[in-house]
Order: sequence, then C-alpha cells, then structure tokens
Amino acid sequence: MRFTNTPLCADPAVDPEIFFPISEIDPREVEQTEKAKAICRSCRAQEECLEKALDGGPFTAFGVWGALTEQERRNLKRRRARSAA
Ligand code: SF4
Repeated sequence: MRFTNTPLCADPAVDPEIFFPISEIDPREVEQTEKAKAICRSCRAQEECLEKALDGGPFTAFGVWGALTEQERRNLKRRRARSAA
C-alpha cells in the first residue's frame, strides 16, 4: 500500500509480523496487538491507512491497520453504514 506520509511500519527496525497477531482475543496475542496499535497511533499515515484498509484490498483483510484490528474495522464499517442510512 502506498501512502502520502512514510508509514512507521516501513521502518526496517519494525518487525512487520507484529501487525499480524494470530488472534485478537487470545490473551497471549493481546500484548502484540497493543504494541502494533501503539506504533500505528504514532504513524503519520494512520488516517490514510485506516481509510484504505476500510476500502478493502487483498492485504487488508487481516491484521492491524490504522490502529484497528480486523474486528474493530468491521465494527467501524457497520457503524458508518448505519449512520449513513
Ligand atoms: S497506521 Fe498503517 S501505515 Fe501506519 S504503522 Fe500502522 S499499519 Fe503501518
């Protein structure tokens, strides 16, 4: 995915695997998810990333994008759809 601002997850010092916890609810994975979200919250591309992830795409079905998990993005899409109706 290309962004206007350089994404933090493109930094070679950041392990990209951190953005793909195996489970959102497994307590062992919660810490990983929170670390990924913290990186996203400091990322200048966060808003753009989240909107692109909400639009869908081959790489955005899973993982943390724009500081939201898969389930959180689904919930946000539902809320937006309801408020637009
Ligand atoms: S907000 Fe998106 S672009 Fe930024 S670090 Fe998170 S996943 Fe990467």
